[in-house]
Amino acid sequence: MSVPADYYDMNRVRPEVAAVLDRINQLGAIFAERAYGIDEDASFPVENYKDLAAEGFMTLTVPEEYGGKGFDLGEYAMVGAEIGKFCGATALTFNMHNSSMMWSRFMYEMPHLTAQEKAAFAPLRERQFRRAVKEQGIYSQPISEAGQNWTSKPAQTECRKVEGGWKITGFKKFASLAGYCDYYSIVCTERFEGIEPRHKDTMIFVVHKDSPGLEVKGDWDPLGMRGTNSRDLILRDVFVTEEDMMMPRGIFIKTLPHWPHVMATLSPTYMGVAQSAYDFTVAYLRGEVPGMPPADRRMFTTKRLAVGKMYARLAPVRALWWQAFTEAQGFPSQAQVMRMYAAQYNVMEAAQEIAALAIRTCGGQAMLKSLPLERIYRDSRCGALMLPFTAEIMEDYMSVLALYDEGEIDDAPGDEHGARTSIWRGYDGQKLSAE
Ligand SMILES: Cc1cc2nc3c(=O)[nH]c(=O)nc-3n(C[C@H](O)[C@H](O)[C@H](O)COP(=O)(O)OP(=O)(O)OC[C@H]3O[C@@H](n4cnc5c(N)ncnc54)[C@H](O)[C@@H]3O)c2cc1C
Repeated sequence: MSVPADYYDMNRVRPEVAAVLDRINQLGAIFAERAYGIDEDASFPVENYKDLAAEGFMTLTVPEEYGGKGFDLGEYAMVGAEIGKFCGATALTFNMHNSSMMWSRFMYEMPHLTAQEKAAFAPLRERQFRRAVKEQGIYSQPISEAGQNWTSKPAQTECRKVEGGWKITGFKKFASLAGYCDYYSIVCTERFEGIEPRHKDTMIFVVHKDSPGLEVKGDWDPLGMRGTNSRDLILRDVFVTEEDMMMPRGIFIKTLPHWPHVMATLSPTYMGVAQSAYDFTVAYLRGEVPGMPPADRRMFTTKRLAVGKMYARLAPVRALWWQAFTEAQGFPSQAQVMRMYAAQYNVMEAAQEIAALAIRTCGGQAMLKSLPLERIYRDSRCGALMLPFTAEIMEDYMSVLALYDEGEIDDAPGDEHGARTSIWRGYDGQKLSAE
């Protein structure tokens, strides 16, 4: 079933973007058909990727001068949310690829980079854009390392200088697209003899899938988002050169804290998942779910009211989320950051609330595996636990920013070794680059 993205004020959406949203809704019918098998086998949505590449959608956020579509963050988010309506795993992995493109694009555009830093950055990002546009290269973004405190301590995956480059050694957990991408964007800490790992030594390299020393390992049999293939990645002395840097030394930590919205890009997927739970319920009660007898269930007041409740939860979340992404920019104001945290929190929480209500409302048949709601319900459960902006961490960040002044953030009480590394610290906040 193709549903237009009419929950936005389309007068404020560029025609090029509206056209992509429409096309995704057409492709979505095919994605939705494939979603059952992908989920059942925990396989990767290879065919969906071919379709997205054929439409030129793998380069949505690549600047136009490099052959991409030049969509901004908000426009990208709208597309991600449409894909998420039909196949959560495709949307979530599509985000990992696009995030790598966006980091290459937006971090370069930050106004506080020096001319020298930009000159070093320019050929690196051109290389990534060329690969995505000309070679249709697919990128993943394995940052998570699991274990305690990966959000608060410097990445444990390390690189050490050797002749002609570096050698990377470490372990990445939940590497979505593992075995299905062409490049892995690896965040690691450069190590120096006698010096403890420091945030300011964070580096990010783009590692080709066939690099010696790189290995995909482990099983993948999760509750939801089964098509993401988020297996383990082991790196043993993987050799990289300066050319393989996504950004020059020091730029990751200099820029990322000032573009916090790029860390909220898991939410489009779950915005789409929430919408799909609602859309399914409406279709179900109207007797319009494909493959089911056309039984009209609208006369049951209790079920009708549940739909009203679902809409009442969904609509404000969509509005807040859209505002947060529409106003996304480098060096945001505190109010913009707070809205983004609130949007992230609400999308992740609402997706699973709405999906649970949908199961309750649609009743027994709706949880049969032959219908998509059962998968949507499981997929919806995965958003709130995805670091670095989990629902719990968002509660903490919102409370800290609401109650403390900029200069007080690092002294605000919290869990020992809590995940405060990624909290926004104000316009001048440079804590990470100093550590
Ligand atoms: C389907 C799926 C795909 C994923 N794909 C990717 C990917 O492509 N790339 C990637 O980098 N990661 C990916 N992740 C990983 C994800 O972002 C999280 O890192 C992961 O889910 C956390 O699992 P964990 O067992 O390490 O949790 P833990 O680190 O044990 O966290 C569990 C909970 O504890 C809380 N918590 C954790 N650390 C802190 C802290 N320091 N302070 C306070 N609270 C804390 C959080 O609220 C969290 O909900 C994926 C996850 C899923 C489910």
